[in-house]
Amino acid sequence: MPNQFTSPSGWTVSSVRNPWGQVPHTAGGQSLTDSARKLADRLHDRPNAENMKNVRRHHYVPQGYLRRWSFDNRRVWTLDTVAGKFSAIGVKDLCVEENFHRVVGPDGNPHNAVETMFTSVDEELCRVQKMFDQLREPDSLTLDDYQILCVVIAAQRIRTKQQRRVHSQYAEWLAAQAPSMKSWFDLDDPLFASGIHTEGVFRALWSAADVLLGRQIEIWEDPSARFPTCDAPVLVPFIKGRRPPLLSAHQIIWPLSPNRVVVLSNDLVGEKAVIRQASSKQVGTVRDAVLQGRERMVVAGVTQREQLARYRLYGGRRVQVELRCSERTPQGERVAAGGCCVRFREWFGIKPDAALCSRGLHQPAPEMLKWT
Ligand SMILES: [Zn+2]
Repeated sequence: MPNQFTSPSGWTVSSVRNPWGQVPHTAGGQSLTDSARKLADRLHDRPNAENMKNVRRHHYVPQGYLRRWSFDNRRVWTLDTVAGKFSAIGVKDLCVEENFHRVVGPDGNPHNAVETMFTSVDEELCRVQKMFDQLREPDSLTLDDYQILCVVIAAQRIRTKQQRRVHSQYAEWLAAQAPSMKSWFDLDDPLFASGIHTEGVFRALWSAADVLLGRQIEIWEDPSARFPTCDAPVLVPFIKGRRPPLLSAHQIIWPLSPNRVVVLSNDLVGEKAVIRQASSKQVGTVRDAVLQGRERMVVAGVTQREQLARYRLYGGRRVQVELRCSERTPQGERVAAGGCCVRFREWFGIKPDAALCSRGLHQPAPEMLKWT
């Protein structure tokens, strides 16, 4: 339990025991535990003949992850929030896109080696998913487990179709402001977006994991197996229609199965992990986070089959970029006359929303709408 005390400067500070024995932080990938180091090594292996096999259909959510919701080890109940249709779909046909991770190699030739590198991440993700889904003794967790949990959550969060769409909206805005920036959408270079996005995943992986490390692991359990998941399965609940950035989010939710979710929260209690039975309010929090956080498809376990058809569709709204001008920087400093600070946020709506000042500093970016 946290201890509260008042520091000499008058701030009320709370201190919580660190149950891990050392500071949980990868230092941007410099300080890795065993499994994380092995994963990093596998990711940095040069593409070899074996992993250059030409796999065309790329899954951005692993099939093994989705299979936890399956009723026959093959298919899951899904709600298509665009078509408003519910049906059973095989996990091999969900969250999949042709050449999603296809990139141009240093020799100028396009290849699919990245997809095979992601296989290592997928294997770790499914291993960690199972471990936390079956965890009984939180004290048995090691720093290694914690680090790899945060790495797989970070990787899953960044690599979805939703993240590519949101970043494409932002890239269109940047491209409209500065001719030196390039739109992600380029007919002459169809692999440009996948190249930028895929490179970004690897570059951002460890620092994204560090944003998660240091949070409290909570495991919420629902004996009625009502937790759904979706095609963007790392969830940050929207607050008043805005999605808080990872750094300031109170909770980051990763469904493990219909029975369990991992929640990385800001409520440190000094334990490695806290396992608790979810209240109906918490079950509702997860369901709403899934329904608002999905890109298109919602996946539910067998007990929710009837409920799926009644889930709220939100009329096609989903996460979009929001741009606003401010006279102040995020640190609160006033920007000198002739300038402004553009705030980039994610909101829940039908299209990107850019409302910028009339000081003649910005170019309109109608191309953003291509990625709605
Ligand atoms: Zn402005």
